[in-house]
Amino acid sequence: MRISTRIDLAVAAAAALALAGLAALTWLDHADWLPRLMPRALALLALFVVLDRVLRHLVLRPVHEHSQALRRLALHDSLTGAVNRRGFTDRLQQAQGQAALCAQPLSLVMVDIDHFKRINDVHGHAIGDSVLREVAARLRRQMRRGDLLGRLGGEEFAVLLPGTDLEGAAVQAELARQALRREPVAVAGTVTASLGVAQWDGSEPAADWLERADLALYEAKRLGRDRVRLSGART
Ligand code: GH3
Ligand code: MG
Ligand code: MG
Repeated sequence: MRISTRIDLAVAAAAALALAGLAALTWLDHADWLPRLMPRALALLALFVVLDRVLRHLVLRPVHEHSQALRRLALHDSLTGAVNRRGFTDRLQQAQGQAALCAQPLSLVMVDIDHFKRINDVHGHAIGDSVLREVAARLRRQMRRGDLLGRLGGEEFAVLLPGTDLEGAAVQAELARQALRREPVAVAGTVTASLGVAQWDGSEPAADWLERADLALYEAKRLGRDRVRLSGART
């Protein structure tokens, strides 16, 4: 239970107790001091409410915002803004649950930049970084609402496509491949990537599904790079 909810419950319980006590005293009818006590009780209650507001504003809100910022840092890659491997794996598993519940297809595209080491070697690490940012931006521009971009490591990205079957994911992957190679990236020139596509089979663990997409990606590398390969359904 969240801290603010616990405080709400404590305040409500204290106010309910105070009111019940006053009601009991009134009912007993031998409380001639009650009219004198009433303003003090109300003043105390008002003080209580003001303190509660101040506490929330000065302490709880900053703590909540800080923990949200930490959570964002822990689950995102600071270079590209994509979710990191941990964040992506979490969301992948949530998406599996959702897809199973709604009997919807769910697919995954793995993207690995071709010969990225060469870009670093020829132009330096800073240009390599700017290529990574540009690739993430182009992949993002290609995505639809609800798709999720992850950076799984060095120059390897993944896109999660809820509600999309293998055929639809292959179309998205091909559009992404073309978006990457269409325009040269500043300084580095034309950048290409190899892509592997896999549809979740409805029951396999996330690790197996990721591995199938990875195998399709390495098949694309093996066949000459700058292409999309699909993983057939698991038998
Ligand atoms: P392939 O076509 O087979 O994928 O070859 P590649 O050169 O893309 O792959 P390889 O695994 O040989 O090299 C990946 C390089 O990515 C090596 C590593 O130094 C670089 N790299 C990893 N993370 C970063 C990063 O954050 N910034 C930069 N600039 N380079 C990175
Ligand atoms: Mg690579
Ligand atoms: Mg790689």
